[in-house]
Amino acid sequence: MKTYEVRTHGCQMNVHDSERIAGLLESAGYVDRAALTDDARPAGPDVVVFNTCAVRENAAGKLYGQLGQLRPAKTDNPDMQIAVGGCLAQKDRQEIVRRAPWVDVVFGTHNVGSLPVLLERARHNAEAQVEILESLETFPSTLPTRRDSAYSGWVSISVGCNNTCTFCIVPSLRGKEKDRRPGDVLAEVRALVEQGVVEVTLLGQNVNTYGVEFGDRLAFGKLLRACGEIEGLERVRFTSPHPAAFTDDVIDAMAETSNVMPSLHMPLQSGSDRVLKAMRRSYRSEKFLGILERVRDRMPDAAITTDIIVGFPGETEADFEETMRVVREARFSSAFTFQYSIRPGTPAADLPDQLPKAVVQQRFDRLIELQEEVSWVGNRALEGRTLEVLVAPSEGRKDAETHRMSGRARDNRLVHFAVPEGTERPRPGDVVSVDVTYGAPHHLVADSPVQGGTWSVRRTPGGDAWQALQTDSGADSGAGAVRKPAVSLGMPAIGKPEPAAVAAGPGCACS
Ligand code: SF4
Repeated sequence: MKTYEVRTHGCQMNVHDSERIAGLLESAGYVDRAALTDDARPAGPDVVVFNTCAVRENAAGKLYGQLGQLRPAKTDNPDMQIAVGGCLAQKDRQEIVRRAPWVDVVFGTHNVGSLPVLLERARHNAEAQVEILESLETFPSTLPTRRDSAYSGWVSISVGCNNTCTFCIVPSLRGKEKDRRPGDVLAEVRALVEQGVVEVTLLGQNVNTYGVEFGDRLAFGKLLRACGEIEGLERVRFTSPHPAAFTDDVIDAMAETSNVMPSLHMPLQSGSDRVLKAMRRSYRSEKFLGILERVRDRMPDAAITTDIIVGFPGETEADFEETMRVVREARFSSAFTFQYSIRPGTPAADLPDQLPKAVVQQRFDRLIELQEEVSWVGNRALEGRTLEVLVAPSEGRKDAETHRMSGRARDNRLVHFAVPEGTERPRPGDVVSVDVTYGAPHHLVADSPVQGGTWSVRRTPGGDAWQALQTDSGADSGAGAVRKPAVSLGMPAIGKPEPAAVAAGPGCACS
């Protein structure tokens, strides 16, 4: 029995790619080392795969540090294989085996499917294999997948990005946008629902330009509406859209499709029009705020999250104040905030006026303080509201201490809810109704079940799928146990234009 371990860095795109890497390795006969019981688990894995990210600060330093830590294990056991894939592999290529010659395989973002063959070839030839393709040959959804969750799944609708944001390395590493056919996407969603999945997240670097490749500007809204027709699919989410191309037909589709959730991740990046221009982001703050207004007009309860970069080269105090203004007006439920750092290979890396760290840090701290206030006001406003929560396997770190369980509301807010003693605990994948008793800055608390307020549990096929997994794997059925579904075969690509399939119906994800 050969075992594997996949270490994932970066965005949801990588998380989903890692599900494919796991599926490929299991199809090739490897076993997930983490899934084995303590007594059956060997000291070290036979294959370690790093699925890397080139977007985050110091990604290379982190990778080479981890590779260095593995070196003694490789020296002790030369049969152990180390593979490096993902965006940093696509970028650094040969450099990886030059700096870490104990690495066996380097593969890129366009040839994830080659991994088992490259491992075999590296073993047979006793030399490192580096294979990077310049563009995608087949959509990666055709690969086998071992999904992380029994009740919730990622579905890729596109890969790559046609934009040229100056701080972003994605276009050069993931290539131009490739859209999957709507019929292929919907077939995968239906197949997941048949397996018990109740929630899907449509994934692409820039989901709302979906359709650009097959000439249908309205394809994303149509896809959302078509998802609304799928019986048993309770929650549809997507990430990430881009403000420049976010049109009202998508807002209408969200508002008019009952299983599309009232949550939206809309990356602002900067509130200053001057900085947006330097970032080569083609919308301006007024357009951005206009989108939010129209979303809230149609979906008053929508929770809107964002990404913001502080300290882009040349950002003045006045520019930063503009970001603060937009954050105040936008009322984001939360924000992923980043301090700008030079990412080699991006146009912004060569811009003059890179800001001193102390200035960036001070602005960053002010932004976080403001966003915390805004998030907290938004969460406190929900006190007393009844929410439907999709139960997760132990999402709260303190759940064991507080005897609460956790899950996500329809608007994707994290909710920790109490479970009355003596009642059957809901299963991950089930849906509970609870009242919010406290809005904290980063989550909601719902103690109504133990305070005589709302408490109901709806068992779903998602909960059944989660439970079946516990039984199949012989695990105890405690809600803390995380077992992964069996490998599913890749989805065959229909491979011919068929936008009508959607018309006939009713996501770095870092845009
Ligand atoms: S930030 Fe997003 S939209 Fe801009 S280039 Fe990168 S992936 Fe594309």
